[in-house]
Amino acid sequence: MSGVLVIMEQRSGTWNRMSAEAVAAGQALAEKTNLPLTTVALAGKDTTLIGPSYLVQHELLEPYTSDAYVIALEQLIKKLSPDYVLFPHTYQVRDFAPALATRFKQVLISDVIGIHDGPTFVRQLLQGKLNADYKHSAIGPCFVSIQAGSFRTDAPRPAGVTPETFTPDLSASQIRNKPGERFRESGQTVDLTQAPVIVSVGRGIGEQDNLPIVEELAQALGAELAASRPICDNGWLPMERQVGSSGQTVSPKLYLAVGISGAIQHLVGMKGSKAVIAINKDENAPIFEVADYGVVGDLFEIVPELTKAVRAAKS
Ligand SMILES: Cc1cc2nc3c(=O)[nH]c(=O)nc-3n(C[C@H](O)[C@H](O)[C@H](O)COP(=O)(O)OP(=O)(O)OC[C@H]3O[C@@H](n4cnc5c(N)ncnc54)[C@H](O)[C@@H]3O)c2cc1C
Repeated sequence: MSGVLVIMEQRSGTWNRMSAEAVAAGQALAEKTNLPLTTVALAGKDTTLIGPSYLVQHELLEPYTSDAYVIALEQLIKKLSPDYVLFPHTYQVRDFAPALATRFKQVLISDVIGIHDGPTFVRQLLQGKLNADYKHSAIGPCFVSIQAGSFRTDAPRPAGVTPETFTPDLSASQIRNKPGERFRESGQTVDLTQAPVIVSVGRGIGEQDNLPIVEELAQALGAELAASRPICDNGWLPMERQVGSSGQTVSPKLYLAVGISGAIQHLVGMKGSKAVIAINKDENAPIFEVADYGVVGDLFEIVPELTKAVRAAKS
């Protein structure tokens, strides 16, 4: 078989939203190359999943270890011989996909934000200042991971299909890793990539003592609180709440940027948002170039009024 294989990610039967984005990227690639699309998920022996074309199932795949994932997927890829293997660019994928690609003497084209005819894969360089096109010229499968927010999707895709089960040949002695804590699941960590609504605060807030103004808005909206880099550099909010090239890449339904200028390093982390509202007192702030709705004014006047209005609308 040749084709496009998309490796999806699930946890306890729930799809990671970036999986659906990787499937959307896979569909785009399949259309461009006229190749069939096949989707795959990996799970332990007790998980039932509806949706993907293949379910790679083995008791040693739960809890996750990179060794088990690499061995299991190597076997499936050898069986299916796809031309392209796509992944969502999750923390877990970053952990195992380079080793998997190496098994096939390939590199992983990581963090891809677009796919052009050819196909060529677009990656960002120099903190998002340059886009570079990558083409697979080697013989063998091309491994690609898709950055969050690059391909839009409204709902987790595959549904209604009972997958074909693939049981890899795996033994405990092949697994050198000892599973540690789950990625991004400890009490202090926040996975902004999964948040449907984000209120993000920038240096316009002035000082740490003013943060409750935006925290209240986030609470009223049921949103996650995020920030630009100076806020996290100052220690006003933890680093895990930073959005941008050196923080998280997010693609919520709504991103509300409060007192953020819109530097390129910030924009690369949030421009995949479906709707952007910006509040800034400078009408020339670059954030307005990516905003769907812009409010020019003082955040100290606007945000408390907005919070009141949201609370009133919800009561
Ligand atoms: C290698 C590198 C990596 C970086 N990575 C990141 C990153 O991951 N994420 C990131 O965010 N940045 C990153 N940066 C920093 C980035 O270049 C900007 O400096 C930063 O994004 C600016 O943050 P800001 O918009 O909060 O602050 P500023 O640029 O200072 O903007 C503050 C904004 O608030 C507005 N404002 C002020 N007062 C008010 C008020 N009362 N009401 C309304 N609006 C008001 C101002 O008009 C201004 O537009 C990086 C930089 C480098 C060099």
